[in-house]
Amino acid sequence: GAVTVGELAKLIKREPSEIIKKLLFLGIMATINQEIDTDAIELVASDFGVEVVVKEPVDEEALDMLIEEADPAKLQERPPIVTIMGHVDHGKTTLLDAIRETNVTAQEAGGITQHIGAYQVEVSGKKITFLDTPGHEAFTTMRARGAQVTDITVLVVAADDGVMPQTVEAINHAKAANVPIIVAVNKMDKPDANPDRVRQELSEYGLISEEWGGDTIFVPLSAKQRTGLDQLLEMILLVAEMAELKADPTARPRGTVIEAELDKGRGPVATVLVQNGTMRVGDIVVAGTTFGRVRAMVNDKGRRVKEAGPSYPVEILGLNDVPSAGDLFVVYDDERKARSLAEKRIAKHRQEQLGVQSRVTLEDLYKQIQEGDVKELNVIIKADVQGSVEALTGSLEKIDIAGVRVKVIHKGVGAITESDILLASASNAIVIGFNVRPEPNAGRVAESEKVDVRLYRVIYNVIEELEAAMKGMLDPEY
Ligand code: GDP
Repeated sequence: GAVTVGELAKLIKREPSEIIKKLLFLGIMATINQEIDTDAIELVASDFGVEVVVKEPVDEEALDMLIEEADPAKLQERPPIVTIMGHVDHGKTTLLDAIRETNVTAQEAGGITQHIGAYQVEVSGKKITFLDTPGHEAFTTMRARGAQVTDITVLVVAADDGVMPQTVEAINHAKAANVPIIVAVNKMDKPDANPDRVRQELSEYGLISEEWGGDTIFVPLSAKQRTGLDQLLEMILLVAEMAELKADPTARPRGTVIEAELDKGRGPVATVLVQNGTMRVGDIVVAGTTFGRVRAMVNDKGRRVKEAGPSYPVEILGLNDVPSAGDLFVVYDDERKARSLAEKRIAKHRQEQLGVQSRVTLEDLYKQIQEGDVKELNVIIKADVQGSVEALTGSLEKIDIAGVRVKVIHKGVGAITESDILLASASNAIVIGFNVRPEPNAGRVAESEKVDVRLYRVIYNVIEELEAAMKGMLDPEY
């Protein structure tokens, strides 16, 4: 993050000699190639009437660590992290419980199941980590916060019910995150189970089963009768193997907060998923805007553990406050640094809440296109009837303004929901409502997430306004 005199001069469009003079005035002797510190930068800039906000490389720091420590020789296979998604009542919770109960590792048998937000099972000597909150809302909330914790999605579809609206949502959420999908065709025990209908319906969404010449794995099962589970787990391991999931257990520990709460007796408790390195009791961690020394770690069997390696979920005790799901955590060598980083993040967070964010909006779309930040405009379409959804999709996907195109990442019939907004936020998309409105909660989330929601009643107006925005000719909104 250091800046030289010459670079600062360029940044604030002044001569280096002017900067050097100002610095002298402050009692700092500097040459053009000398690096100056944050305080000096701010003082000099403010003298020139320029307000400079020195951004600490908070998250870049974490990113650097990733690159710096990705020593190929040290990489080892790590367990896949799996999320279960699907329509309500199609059996997600039953499946999660069935897998957990039938696959306890030998050494951990006898432990008491703790719902900490994630759990791990062992299959033919290999481990798989499941996120314990079914559904795509949690998944996308985390993604909206910049966390990518899922390697594989298991899409549960009830064989007697087929593809339903939330099935489609789940598919689009997984696709937007580039996460491979395995289809679990559930409730095969039911007399009216019709797996071919599920295959047929899913093929319309690009999920073509291997039997039909595609590359999506379909596993028929019954979560209730616990049949087909082994095959599902084998398939998860197969997909994981193809993805070559790796981590370095010796790297600086980092990962993501899965869930967190304030426990009356124990204080702030956070379940974290270690994604690189090995976390140990006594480590100093920063998680989002919180920090502390790890006092104890408890696994999903309620056992105290001393260390947690890649893909291993544990509850940690010892943070000074409750972090949020999706927060990144990193282990630090030094408590003072950890505290100052957490404080900087609090400040940054406040700033973001004040509206300094770079979400795509129609207003500044043109600018973002010009700056090369946007090559494709992601949109979500919600309309009152299917006919309008299709008509809009067709027209919008034809738009091509100087190579910039519109990509419909999700569409559906009905009001704009919170889940739509979260997907938009996570995928930097705008939401188009045609003869529909946001649900009250969705409206609130759109405001806090700064997602641009546009409501229309005439198809022509949608196309016209999008094209105008892409050309930088949008009429200002009053
Ligand atoms: P979720 O909303 O997707 O988490 O669905 P649940 O796991 O709560 O299941 C909804 C209902 O379907 C419950 O009554 C389950 O007992 C039932 N169910 C789940 N899996 C099966 C199955 O394989 N066969 C049958 N017959 N019922 C199932």
